[in-house]
Amino acid sequence: MTAHHTLWDDVLHNEQVIQEVAALAVDTALLEGVLMRTKEDTNSSDVVSYAPFTLLPSVIPSTVFEQAYAVQQDFNLLVDTISQNVEFLEHALASTIKADDFTAQLFKIYKQVLKEGLAQSVFLGINRSDYMVDRGAGSTPALKQIEINTIAASFGGLTSRTTAVHRHILNVLGKSKEASKLLDNNPARGIALGIVKAWELYGSARAVVMFIVEDVQRNIFDQRCIENEVWTRNIRVIRRQFKDVFEKASLDNDRRLYMEGQEVAVVYYRNGYMPANYNQQNWEARLLIERSKAVKCPDIATQLAGTKKVQQELSQPGALEHLLSNHAEAVARIRATFAGLYSLDLGKEGDEMAAVAIADPERFVLKPQREGGGNNLYGEELKQLLERIKDSPERTSYILMDKIVPQPSMNYLLRAQSPLKISECISELGVFGVYVRQGKDIVVNKHVGHLLRTKAVEHADGGVAAGVAVLDTPYII
Ligand code: ADP
Ligand code: MG
Repeated sequence: MTAHHTLWDDVLHNEQVIQEVAALAVDTALLEGVLMRTKEDTNSSDVVSYAPFTLLPSVIPSTVFEQAYAVQQDFNLLVDTISQNVEFLEHALASTIKADDFTAQLFKIYKQVLKEGLAQSVFLGINRSDYMVDRGAGSTPALKQIEINTIAASFGGLTSRTTAVHRHILNVLGKSKEASKLLDNNPARGIALGIVKAWELYGSARAVVMFIVEDVQRNIFDQRCIENEVWTRNIRVIRRQFKDVFEKASLDNDRRLYMEGQEVAVVYYRNGYMPANYNQQNWEARLLIERSKAVKCPDIATQLAGTKKVQQELSQPGALEHLLSNHAEAVARIRATFAGLYSLDLGKEGDEMAAVAIADPERFVLKPQREGGGNNLYGEELKQLLERIKDSPERTSYILMDKIVPQPSMNYLLRAQSPLKISECISELGVFGVYVRQGKDIVVNKHVGHLLRTKAVEHADGGVAAGVAVLDTPYII
C-alpha cells in the first residue's frame, strides 16, 4: 500500500519543524480543552492530559463528506422507525438472542416495557453513523458505513474543539489558506439542543436532566461540553451511576422518574452499552428507568436498533423498502452506504458464508453484538474462531462484514507519553444525528456535526477510548 495524499509532504519529513509544531500543538489542545483524564487517575481532574489527536488534518473528498451529511436525516428516520417496529426487531434479533446473553437481556427489558405499555411519549435520538472511504475497484472512493451508534456515541464534545487546534497548527506552518478551509464543527451544541428540546416537550419546569455515567470517568470533558451547554439554558443536569439509580430512584403513580426527590425529564446514557456495565442491580436500575415516563436517550428499542445484527438484517433485499415504504429516495441514499453484510444464522446461507470467510479471512470482519471497540475479529483470528464455531449455534451471535480498505496517508499521532513518529494512517468519519419525536410526530431531525478519527494501519480495530484511534479534523478537497 502506498500513501498517495501528498498534501502536507513539505513538512511531514522535516524533523525539526515537526518537533516544534508538535509541542505547540499539544499546548494548543490543552488551551482549547481537548482534554482527557489520565489512565492513572481516571476520576480526578487534578492532573489531566490531552486527548490524543493527529498533528495534521486528514484529507476527505468533498463528495463522500457531503454524502455522509446528506444521508444522516435518513438514518435518523430509519433508527426511529425501527424502534417502533416490534415485528422487525423480534424477527431480526430472534436468532441472536438465543446465542447472545447481553442482547437477550436488553430484549427482555424491551418486551417487559412493551407489555406494561409505554409511559414515555417524547423520544430523543442522538446517534453517530460511522464510515470509512473504500478505495473501491476503480478510482472513485466510496463511502461505506462501518456501523451506527445509537447509545453513548461519544466525542461530540471534544471534536467541537479540535478544529481550532488544527487551524492554529496550519497557520503556524504558514498554511493560512488551508487553515481557513477547515470547517466549523460543533456537535456538542447540536446534541445539547436536542436534550433541551426533549426536556421542553416533557414539560415540567422543575425536572432535571440525568446523565448516566460509568464509574471510570476518563472521558468526562467530552460529556461536560454537552452538559455545560444544557446548563446555559438554565436546565439542571445531574450525573449519576446505575448504582445510584438502584439505591435512590423511584417511580410515582404516573411513572414519573424521581432521583433523590428530583423529577427527571431526560435520561442521557453515557453508559450501559456493554455487558461489563451491568450487574444484577444495574439491570434493575435500567428496567426502572425504561419503565418510566422520562425521555430516555436512547430508549431500549433504539439501543436494539443499533445492534450489528440489525445492521446486517437491514442489508437484506427489501428490508429498507419495507421499513421506509414511502421514502424511496431515503432508501436509495441509505443503501448506497452499505458494505456487504452477511448473516451467520444456522442454515445453508450461513454455512456457505462461514466457509467463504474461512477460505478467505482477509476479505472480512467478524463482529459480535458488542460496542466500544476491540471486539471484532480479523484475519487468522477470524478464521480460527469460525473454524471452531462453524457448526455451533454460537456462530449466530456474530455477523460477517466485508472489510473496507481505505487509502492510507501519512501523519503523526500525538498521544501523551508516546514517542513522536510518523505513521501510515487510515480514518473513520462519523456524522452525528439528533431527532426528537413527540407521539407520532418527528419535531426535530438534524445532522449536527462530524467526528474524524484516525489510526495507524497496523491496528485493525479500535476507537479513541480504546486507545487506538485519535481525534482528527477533515480537510475537504
Ligand atoms: P464498535 O462498536 O466496537 O465500535 P465497529 O463496528 O465500529 O464496532 O468496529 C470497530 C472498529 O473496527 C472500527 O472503528 C474500524 O476501525 C474497524 N472496522 C469495523 N468494521 C470494519 C470493516 N467492515 N472494514 C474495516 N474496518 C472495520
Ligand atoms: Mg465503532
